[in-house]
Amino acid sequence: MTIKLGCIADDYTGASDLANTLTRAGLRTVQTIGVPAEDLALPDVDAVVVSLKSRSIAAPLAVARSREAETWLRGRGADHVLFKICSTFDSTDAGNIGPVMDALRDDAGETVVLVTPAFPETGRTVYQGHLFVGHVPLNESPLKDHPLNPMHDANLVRVLSRQSRAKIGLVDLATVVRGPEAVRARLADLAGQGIGAAIIDAAFDADLTTIGTVAVRHRVSVGASGIGLGLARALVESGGVKAAAADAANDAPVGGPAACLAGSCSQATLAQIAQAEKIMPVLHLDPEQILAGKDEARRALAWAIECLADDPVLIAASAAPEQVAAVQARHGREVAGHAIEQTMAEIAEGLVQAGVRRLVVAGGETSGAVVDRLKIPAFLVGPEIAPGVPVLRTVGARSAEMLLALKSGNFGGSQFFLDALGLMR
Ligand code: ADP
Repeated sequence: MTIKLGCIADDYTGASDLANTLTRAGLRTVQTIGVPAEDLALPDVDAVVVSLKSRSIAAPLAVARSREAETWLRGRGADHVLFKICSTFDSTDAGNIGPVMDALRDDAGETVVLVTPAFPETGRTVYQGHLFVGHVPLNESPLKDHPLNPMHDANLVRVLSRQSRAKIGLVDLATVVRGPEAVRARLADLAGQGIGAAIIDAAFDADLTTIGTVAVRHRVSVGASGIGLGLARALVESGGVKAAAADAANDAPVGGPAACLAGSCSQATLAQIAQAEKIMPVLHLDPEQILAGKDEARRALAWAIECLADDPVLIAASAAPEQVAAVQARHGREVAGHAIEQTMAEIAEGLVQAGVRRLVVAGGETSGAVVDRLKIPAFLVGPEIAPGVPVLRTVGARSAEMLLALKSGNFGGSQFFLDALGLMR
């Protein structure tokens, strides 16, 4: 099995976003959790996105992990490796974008690496190398106050120069709008000047297509889901992907009991739970019992197992803001959050042991805890339930195949749980 596009994402949600973008653009895509084992049996796919948690760790460690991922991807035939970063270029002068880019560039023998976090449909544009978040430059956006990596400079040529061993250049918008040939000519110029990486401007969706057309013939690129979209378009255009090939085995129903877990306390999730109460049994966990060390997971599982044969169930820790604030005031935000996440993970594990094969999880951190506990190595990305929330099919798991939906708090319409169960057969 040969993959066309390998991606290394520096965080989990960024990886999911990219995997979903590639799928929508027509690539059959698997997202792995960490660097996969050598023997991971992949279905027939075009792209693999390896999710790392390397955005804010020490640069040498980020480089080592990224290189492991790169070796795995190249070993499966990936000609091009995209290093997926945040669309707000989250990093510090110590890295990790520059150091990882330098390592991948060395390994691939790349002349000039194309770099752009632009994704115009989500308001990220780059002009004269300056990144804009909506209407404002990066350094005037909320990212200026980010707790881990405050972004005080919108000029990405400068930002990347501080992180990288390479000399950094610019491919400006005036060149991009003249099309792929003009970009290639500019890159040849830059290479002649000893430049090793270039920030490339993009203000409109069509610019991503031009960038993808050029980048796909390189070995390495760096950027957010926007350049991923450009690369996917170029691969689809080249006709070498399996996009249209219906793969019956991968669309086969999974069946078995279904359950939903909610750990998000967002407005959207609270409204979705209220809707779900009308159509399925719902159990509300008591956070005070969890924090007192009582076995809420066991109580929830006993309740769920009674109902599961007949109906999908929903188990929710979610509460209104004033109740959440009260719990946090008594126990501390982190202690409360962690304890509740772990209880949700334990419930998920018990549900799977009881035969659940279709699981919907609301909440970003909650989803992370559940996926870790279930030790799922990878997912094949399926159709979207709501924008940004695809159906995921487990790949290479020790237990039977499952379908999951992992939703960040604010995503999805009011019927989200019903919509998810409708698509997860
Ligand atoms: P979102 O995607 O909405 O941010 P997360 O799962 O990432 O959702 O975060 C929600 C956090 O709130 C988790 O740490 C979860 O354990 C915690 N939580 C859930 N229910 C409660 C509650 N009733 N009181 C306090 N914290 C809660």
